[in-house]
Amino acid sequence: MRYNLHTHSFYCGHGSGRIGEYCDEAERNGFSLLGFSEHCPFPDGLLSRSRMPFPSMELYERDVRSERRPFSILLGYEVDYFRSRRSYYERLKERVDYLIGGTHYIFRPDGSMASVFDSLLSGDDIRRYADQTVRAMSSGLFSFYAHPDVYLSERPFGKDEEAAAALILDAAAELGVPLELNGNGHLKGRGYPSEEFWRMAAERGIPALVSSDAHRVVDLAAPFGFLESFASRIGLTLLEPGSISPLSFRKVQAN
Ligand SMILES: [Zn+2]
Ligand SMILES: [Zn+2]
Repeated sequence: MRYNLHTHSFYCGHGSGRIGEYCDEAERNGFSLLGFSEHCPFPDGLLSRSRMPFPSMELYERDVRSERRPFSILLGYEVDYFRSRRSYYERLKERVDYLIGGTHYIFRPDGSMASVFDSLLSGDDIRRYADQTVRAMSSGLFSFYAHPDVYLSERPFGKDEEAAAALILDAAAELGVPLELNGNGHLKGRGYPSEEFWRMAAERGIPALVSSDAHRVVDLAAPFGFLESFASRIGLTLLEPGSISPLSFRKVQAN
């Protein structure tokens, strides 16, 4: 089954391509499901540099909802989770088809924050990344968790990194939150998906769904060949959507 549930567009400000152009590309590639998951903005402008302005949400949602294609289209958001904003996410979730969780920033006790792509993250930061990710997964809000291994994009796999991977993987298994094998790092030449991280997942019998995390139309279907051979090389079982309302996943049957 060809599908992608992690799709951005020009709406987020750091991507390109209109909603209709992604739909055309999905049609060309024989997708049976396309889900849009723009970075979720906040009413007070928090993290506004990496997402659409709050008032644009209405346009984005209407734009996705107005598409009629020979495949299913879902409306969603990719969400940075803050416990204090829970009621906002709950209202959002009622309005759209699904939410994806994703940790993009690490929040330190001194009030500062760091991007997960920062190459100077400390061992404590990595631990915080894992704690934040586990807390977000525990919220029960998310249909799946995006790029759980993104913290490895610019770093070798040492003891702190391994401990963080174990925390995240064990929590995902316990909570039943599907994890995403993300193709965007591969397209950008960053160090994720991480072979070490996903080998640990495979050892635990934890499956993953594939996404391109496209920010350009040409990237929508581009990484799937790579992701599928990556998974088969390390013995990682893949998931695919089993139902779309509500969104749920089943294991891909080997043929
Ligand atoms: Zn983005
Ligand atoms: Zn993301």
